[in-house]
Amino acid sequence: MTWRNETVRTNFEEVLRRNPGETEFHQAVEEVFDSLDLVLDKHPEYGDQSILERICEPERQIVFRVPWVDDEGKVRINRGFRVQFNSALGPYKGGLRFHPSVLLGTVKFLGFEQVFKNALTGLPLGGGKGGSDFDPKGRTDGEVMRFCQSFMTELHHHIGEYTDVPAGDIGVGTREVGYLFGQYKRLTHRYESGVITGKGITWGGSPMRPEATGYGTVFFTEHMLTTRGRSFDGARVLVSGSGNVAHFAIEKVQQLGGTVVGCSDSSGAVYDPAGIDLELLHQVKQVERGRISDYAGRRADARFLDGVNVWQVAGEAEVDVALPCATQNELDGADAKFLVDRGVLAVAEGANMPCTPEAVAVFRGADVLFGPGKAVNAGGVATSGLEMQQNASRDAWTHEHTEARLAEIMHGIHERCAATAEEYGRPGDYVVGANVAGFSRVADAMLALGVV
Ligand code: NDP
Repeated sequence: MTWRNETVRTNFEEVLRRNPGETEFHQAVEEVFDSLDLVLDKHPEYGDQSILERICEPERQIVFRVPWVDDEGKVRINRGFRVQFNSALGPYKGGLRFHPSVLLGTVKFLGFEQVFKNALTGLPLGGGKGGSDFDPKGRTDGEVMRFCQSFMTELHHHIGEYTDVPAGDIGVGTREVGYLFGQYKRLTHRYESGVITGKGITWGGSPMRPEATGYGTVFFTEHMLTTRGRSFDGARVLVSGSGNVAHFAIEKVQQLGGTVVGCSDSSGAVYDPAGIDLELLHQVKQVERGRISDYAGRRADARFLDGVNVWQVAGEAEVDVALPCATQNELDGADAKFLVDRGVLAVAEGANMPCTPEAVAVFRGADVLFGPGKAVNAGGVATSGLEMQQNASRDAWTHEHTEARLAEIMHGIHERCAATAEEYGRPGDYVVGANVAGFSRVADAMLALGVV
């Protein structure tokens, strides 16, 4: 990367020097900095007040040991993390990821993205992220509970509804949030619902939180499609993953008249020409906690593609829209070229940083509508913000009301990104729109709050 602006260049070099080996964090910073030449030209005060340097340094990083005992009585040790990145706009807010690949650099990349994503929602939310290298796959409920209780025994010192509000992410769903919240309640002697989001509907959760990220992804993509006179109606779609975000993205695409012809998990992809049967997918992945190959095995015309990613399905079927909803760096430059060659019209990141920088460059160069994760998947955290509002006012909203608020927020994010891209001379470039709009809101608040 060659940086035109000297402040951007020196700050990026400093990020590399201070955070050795954290390649995902470097990638996330580089992706935001890539849009900031334009901003610093207009606002030299951000450079003068060292906003770039401050924004890349988390306010606080907590790393801790998580001891627990498995069903055989063996003591297990995992590592826990919480990175409280930026609280200029509100309490730290961001999910917890339980996955064996989680390192401090992973949490920092996610926390950094979260700062700008939360700013884009327009809600009063700072940014943070956390997690552990614990793998819930193959663990019994009892083991998951004991792990969550041990994790929260340390984490509870650092969170609170006005301090830091975690939520779910990969490997952390309602079951885990329940165990975490239960232990928090026990340790603090307080029923402080707003301390964590993603709760079950009967104990303080939002009726839309499970659906929010997937639905929001599709709402944003629909707005992008509208700018080219298209919609999901009749569109053929690929969705990667088959977890929370993927499941509800598929559901909303289907409601809007599209057909999802492929989805995946980390073992391979499924091609289902008739469209994914969501009920069966839910049964296999959520209820039985099985593999995507089990889905293909029970569906007449579906085929399991062993060990390949879902983008290969574009070799078998016509595809208009691709929604990467699994994990970071799951769609590379070669996948992007493959999709472009087969005429994909829009790509929107339901996951965090699923497209490599090479893939993003291919899409932007090919004039494909490209929605970056920090805008596209912001519906999840926005609905967490709505859950916090309900908890604070001891209120419970209906499904319809919450979905209407989510749709309104996603429309607002789309308009903010589009208007900012236009203002900075890059009409239709959602990467520039999201980075600049998110960054500016945080940077202005940081300037207002002084050097803290
Ligand atoms: P889940 O754990 O519910 O699902 C993750 C899915 O991705 C699983 O189906 C998993 O398969 C699959 N997967 C993992 N690695 C790969 C891979 N290399 N190739 C293909 N599939 C893979 O997580 P979520 O749905 O909650 O999160 C997905 C993404 O969305 C993450 O990037 C997350 O940070 C982001 N996100 C989530 C939000 C939320 O509200 N949940 C909010 C905003 C962003 P397997 O079963 O084999 O592991």
